[in-house]
Amino acid sequence: MRPHILGIDLGGTKVLAAVLDPDGKIVARARAKTRGWRNDEEVFRTIALTGHRALESAGVDQDHLAAVGIGAPGPIDFDTGSIIETANLKFKNFPLGPRLAEEFGRPAIVENDVNAGVYGELRAGAARGAREVLGVFVGTGIGGGLILNGALYRGFSKGAGEVGHIIVAAGGPRCGCGNRGCLEAVASRTAITRDIRKAIKRGYRGPVTKSLNKETDQLSGKDLKLAYDSGDQLVKRVIHRAAKLIGVGMGSLLNVLGLEIVVLGGGVVEAFGDDFVDRIERAARAIAFEINSENVKITRAELGDDAGVIGSAMLAREALNRNAQRQG
Ligand SMILES: [Zn+2]
Repeated sequence: MRPHILGIDLGGTKVLAAVLDPDGKIVARARAKTRGWRNDEEVFRTIALTGHRALESAGVDQDHLAAVGIGAPGPIDFDTGSIIETANLKFKNFPLGPRLAEEFGRPAIVENDVNAGVYGELRAGAARGAREVLGVFVGTGIGGGLILNGALYRGFSKGAGEVGHIIVAAGGPRCGCGNRGCLEAVASRTAITRDIRKAIKRGYRGPVTKSLNKETDQLSGKDLKLAYDSGDQLVKRVIHRAAKLIGVGMGSLLNVLGLEIVVLGGGVVEAFGDDFVDRIERAARAIAFEINSENVKITRAELGDDAGVIGSAMLAREALNRNAQRQG
C-alpha cells in the first residue's frame, strides 16, 4: 500500500477527518461534534480520536500514513505550527502541529481553515488548474483565501487574505474585529439575521416572523431560504443587499488583483444557490474594469464540506515532497 495522507478540518461546530489515497481520492471519513469542550486538551483529544477513527475505517495503519494536514480557525504561527488563538474553541498558543506529529508519528502541517478550503478547490474542485484565485465563503462569518501564482498568498505579514474584513460600508455596523462596515458585518448570516431581527422588533410581519427562534433569536440558513421562497419581502431585501455588498467587495478586489477565478462557497451560498451567485456576479462585474471583468470566472465551490480536508491533505503532501526534494 502506498502512503496515505490524513486531512482534518477543524470548525467551530464539528471536526471532519478524511484519509486520502495516493491519487488524492477520499477513502474514509470520520466526524465529531466540537461543542461543550472545557479546555484545549479535550479539543485535542477529540481531533486525535476522529483522525484515528478515519484511519481505522480506511484500514490504514501508521506504516502506510505519510503525513497529517489540518485546517484550523484563527491566526496561526506558521513557523511553529501553533494556533495563536481561536474565538470559539479553547485554543490559545496551542502547539497543534507538533502535537499531531507526535500523536500520529508523522510530519504534520497546520493551515488556516479557509485557506485549506480554497486550496482544496484549487487542487480538486472548482478552481482546478487556475493560478490566480480568490475564494469567498459566506456563512456565520465571511472567510476568504487568496491564491496568487498558484500558491496560497499570506503576504509579508502572514496575515493577508482577510476578505471578510474589507470595508464595504464605511461607518456601518460594528464587526467582531472591532472595525465598522466590514463585509462580514453586513453580509454574513449573522448580519443578515441581525437585520431581519431588528425589522421584526420594529413591527415587521411576514413569513419569516414565525421562523425566528424564540429562545436563540436565530435563523438557520434553511429558515431564511424557506421565508425567501415564500416571498417574504424583508428577507428578499436583506438577502439581495447582502449579495450586492459581497459583489461590491469582490469587484474592488478584481480591480486590485486581476483574478482568474472567484470561487464562492459556504452555507449561505449553498442555501441560496445560483440566484445569489448571479446577483453577486452582476454587482462585481458592474464595478470591475472591463479588462478585469472579461476574463474572470465567478463560480460556486464544488467540494462542499470536503474542501478543507482535501486542501489540508494536499498541503501536507506537498510540504512532504518539498522536504524530500531538499534532502535528496
Ligand atoms: Zn471586520
